[in-house]
Amino acid sequence: MHGFSYQNNALTCDGLDLQSLVDEFSTPLYVYSAATILDHFHRLDQALDGVEHEVAYAVKANSNLSILRLLATQGAGFDIVSGGELFRVIKAGGDPAHCTFAGVGKTRDEMIYALEQGIYSFNVESEAELRYLNDVAGELGVVAPAAVRVNPNVDAKTHKYISTGKSENKFGVDFDAIPELYERAAAELKHVKMRGLQMHIGSQLTSIGPFVEAVEKVLPLVKMLKECHGIEFWSIGGGIGIIYQESLESGDAAWWDNQPEAERPLTVERYGSELVPRLKDLGLKILLEPGRYIVGNAGVLITRCLYEKKGLAKTFKIVDAGMNDLIRPALYEGHHQIVPLQKPANEELHKMDVVGPICESGDFFCQDRMLPDFQPGDCVALMSAGAYGFAMASNYNSRPLPAEVLVEGNTSTLIRKRQTLDDLIEGEL
Ligand SMILES: *Cc1c(COP(=O)(O)O)cnc(C)c1O
Repeated sequence: MHGFSYQNNALTCDGLDLQSLVDEFSTPLYVYSAATILDHFHRLDQALDGVEHEVAYAVKANSNLSILRLLATQGAGFDIVSGGELFRVIKAGGDPAHCTFAGVGKTRDEMIYALEQGIYSFNVESEAELRYLNDVAGELGVVAPAAVRVNPNVDAKTHKYISTGKSENKFGVDFDAIPELYERAAAELKHVKMRGLQMHIGSQLTSIGPFVEAVEKVLPLVKMLKECHGIEFWSIGGGIGIIYQESLESGDAAWWDNQPEAERPLTVERYGSELVPRLKDLGLKILLEPGRYIVGNAGVLITRCLYEKKGLAKTFKIVDAGMNDLIRPALYEGHHQIVPLQKPANEELHKMDVVGPICESGDFFCQDRMLPDFQPGDCVALMSAGAYGFAMASNYNSRPLPAEVLVEGNTSTLIRKRQTLDDLIEGEL
């Protein structure tokens, strides 16, 4: 579910006309629905009712301060992957004691910062990192709370660039090596306290199977670690997938409502009903690290058509957003539904490529897709751009970063100013 729909042929966000936001803030423009973010957070939280748990939002999906603040006020924890993300969480009023720190390459400075701020757990990804953390904590005269990320060698059945739980991925420690690693940590590392176990098998998982497989595979290991090492939490990671193609007619049933249960996309209710029974008697705190699920469908990127170019083989619509603003299609063949802000009178579809202005052939948002026609000057929305959209934006081609707007109730707030040309060279000598 999300807050975007057509009303009187105009695309709206929680009832607010998106064209009016374009008139005020120009394009390219990211727009987010606060109601959708909160709905997703609470739905997932409720789906895990019945087991002690905490939802730790994966900051990297969208790290705008206003979005972090929104989630912090709801009691969310945060899963961070850098010192910079911890800084943002603190600035947004988040509690470091509810932060977990993931990632394969934490630096000494990041460890020191996170130790000083008192985070909940360092989720470490190798023995070398655990030993280094022990040394750094020792120098500061403190004990670092830690968990090891287990690589359960489960196929997440997602795009190869966002699969993380197979042995050939760089993430985590091999399943079979975990017991001895916890033994060695207990015997040799006086400045770490093993507080939990973590896993995360990949992103944009759209079926429940791999989640269940990973939980069932790791369950005996977790029980042993609880008994022998007194761990208190198990983070089962993020990765819940979203639908990148949805109906925008308010009140319309989604197409999958008519599909057999087994073929429907994953819902958080299904996720909860499959996992809670398997987790509830463990006596451990279960951590969840959703990123995409919370913010993905809650944001759009609005872009204006600059030119139409009819080539021999194709029709190109050249728009003012590029892969520097939204890299998912170029990076991992990400799909974004493309819809006009103003619905055309006729329902004819035309085959087209929607491309950006960047000097790269990979700079396209779709190829050979049948879409309603739109003309230079018209705006379209790239749907479901709330996760890994702005967060991955860059200044490539010396393009200023786009502005971001948050819609809350019936008000819109600029939550990030569009960069200026001066911003582009800030810090350069
Ligand atoms: C990226 C990441 C997540 C979030 O993944 P989503 O697919 O956005 O839910 C969670 N945990 C870890 C360790 C990650 O690296």
